[in-house]
Amino acid sequence: MKLFDLHGRAAIVTGGNGGIGRGLALAFAQAGADVCIAARSKSKLDSTAAEIEALGANCLSIECDVNELEDLKRTLELTKERFGACHILVNNAGIAQQALPQDLTDEQWDRVIDTNLTSVFRFSRTVFPTFRDQGGGKIINIGSEYSLFGSAFVPGYSASKGGVIQLTKSLAVAWADVNIQVNAIIPGWITSEMTDPVKENVEMFQAIVSRTPAGRFGEPEELGGAGIFLASAASDFVTGQSIVVDGGYSVS
Ligand code: NDP
Repeated sequence: MKLFDLHGRAAIVTGGNGGIGRGLALAFAQAGADVCIAARSKSKLDSTAAEIEALGANCLSIECDVNELEDLKRTLELTKERFGACHILVNNAGIAQQALPQDLTDEQWDRVIDTNLTSVFRFSRTVFPTFRDQGGGKIINIGSEYSLFGSAFVPGYSASKGGVIQLTKSLAVAWADVNIQVNAIIPGWITSEMTDPVKENVEMFQAIVSRTPAGRFGEPEELGGAGIFLASAASDFVTGQSIVVDGGYSVS
């Protein structure tokens, strides 16, 4: 469908070498986009790039630490060089840091805030001149159920993800007049390396599944529909919003 077509569009997905980022990168490729995946692990970049190319799409993989501003600038420049432009940025890279607030160190706090929130600001600011000068662009930030709820066990993560949603709204307001839409996806509990330990904890896994109306974890590919919508012309008058993809967890 033309409205959702991404042919001729180039997307950068941070953390696109695994989990939710990989799911979004594959969905974009299926919708016709050229895709740059940017993350640290070379072996995971290589295997995901091979999957994307197997779909017949163009893929660029870049070793990038989102905490390094020079890496963000290089990722944008290489994407423009390879694909001729960059139209879509997905700020997906993230880490979780588990500790009660009284035990969370300054170093742990800084690491999670830098990776999950500051990098979102920095990469969005980095792509802004390109998007403005070409007449528009799409930024998609990845929040969390902990953007909505507090958590005793991941207080820094929760603060970072709450910040992602507020930052999404502020960027949306600031940049709407230059046709840049900034939105977020709030995934529920999704199978990935981040949630593998949760799945191994039988009691916690059962508690989550029984609270989720859909009765299961989601799979990374199930974020693809929301991702394509927010990356495509279908969402040109949608900005500052968060789409929750969680099998009903947040409304039960
Ligand atoms: P994964 O651990 O599978 O993926 C995290 C990704 O982020 C990896 O690709 C990793 O690649 C990348 N990454 C981490 N740190 C950096 C860094 N400094 N620079 C560049 N890339 C980095 O977890 P998910 O796929 O689950 O997580 C993806 C996003 O979704 C995160 O923002 C997470 O908070 C969010 N989320 C996940 C949920 C879930 O249930 N799974 C629920 C709600 C939100 P590498 O290590 O190679 O750099």
